Amino acid sequence: MENEQIKCLIIGSGPAGYTAAIYTARAGLNPVVYEGIEPGGQLTTTTEVENFPGYPEGVTGTALMEDLKKQAVRFGADVRFGVITQIDFSSRPFRATADGTRSIEAESVIIATGASAKYLGLPSEQKFRGMGVSACATCDGFFYRKKDVAVVGGGDTACEEATYLASLCNKVYLIIRKDHMRASQAMQDRVMNTPNIEILFGHVTEEVLGDEQGVTGLLLKNTKGETRTIDVSGLFLAIGHHPNTEIFKGQLELDAEGYIKTLPGTSKTNIEGVFAAGDVQDPHYRQAITAAGSGCVAALDCERYLHSR
Ligand code: NDP
Repeated sequence: MENEQIKCLIIGSGPAGYTAAIYTARAGLNPVVYEGIEPGGQLTTTTEVENFPGYPEGVTGTALMEDLKKQAVRFGADVRFGVITQIDFSSRPFRATADGTRSIEAESVIIATGASAKYLGLPSEQKFRGMGVSACATCDGFFYRKKDVAVVGGGDTACEEATYLASLCNKVYLIIRKDHMRASQAMQDRVMNTPNIEILFGHVTEEVLGDEQGVTGLLLKNTKGETRTIDVSGLFLAIGHHPNTEIFKGQLELDAEGYIKTLPGTSKTNIEGVFAAGDVQDPHYRQAITAAGSGCVAALDCERYLHSR
């Protein structure tokens, strides 16, 4: 097995990973970035990004990530297509395996593996991803102004997304599988008091309907087994996210949902020299710009750590 020694390993290539790469590369740490199974991260699954500062005309998620990658490479980051399949934080330098074959010894590690939105798992939902099916109302809601849309989920995120969409859209259906919501009372009240949100308790989505232009409706089934269709142009999934922390389990402190715990106000994990940035440690804000900001924090924490030893 090949073996190499590096100062800084960055795992993940969303806005957090690439920003950490830009900063650590400029600091002369020669970072090696492993892009992971979804190079560019979640943003590459959305269409237009209009809320990332610096792009007055908007930018596609893919183009934004290409720009961030180019910027990191320009300063010498070694960006590799591949996956860190194993990592051991129990001794120093930390030992990682890439793609099951390449051994890497790293003095520091920045984890930016992100989180993945959960989907229902319907083939029709997969077919219309990016063509009416989205897991981010803040990212894509704007494209559904004055249209009818649906949100699936009964937690705080679903309520927040439904309320946000209600301010832009003509009508929002909130589809909840049980006869009650999981969201906090305040969020439930907000949804109940928004006139253009219709809550459909006890309904599940059986099929996403559409044509070559995108989503046109949903086939729903209620708890009595009755089916109905609703006409909507957009379907927003808000049934939770799962952080991509499988390989760190048992080594790093994670919260009950599996997000990496960091020392408040820093990117420091419970292991010195291991830092976390972006959605993998942030279940709340989950924005490209907040992820990028936390990537910068991780790079600065990492640089200080390496210089202080
Ligand atoms: P949650 O896990 O809290 O809620 C997920 C929702 O999706 C539940 O209603 C669940 O239904 C439903 N669901 C899950 N799987 C399916 C499925 N296959 N089909 C249909 N429905 C499904 O996730 P959230 O993202 O809402 O929240 C995550 C955390 O973030 C929570 O702790 C929340 O409080 C917090 N948060 C706080 C906010 C705030 O304070 N402003 C804003 C957003 C999030 P069921 O109940 O039946 O399992």
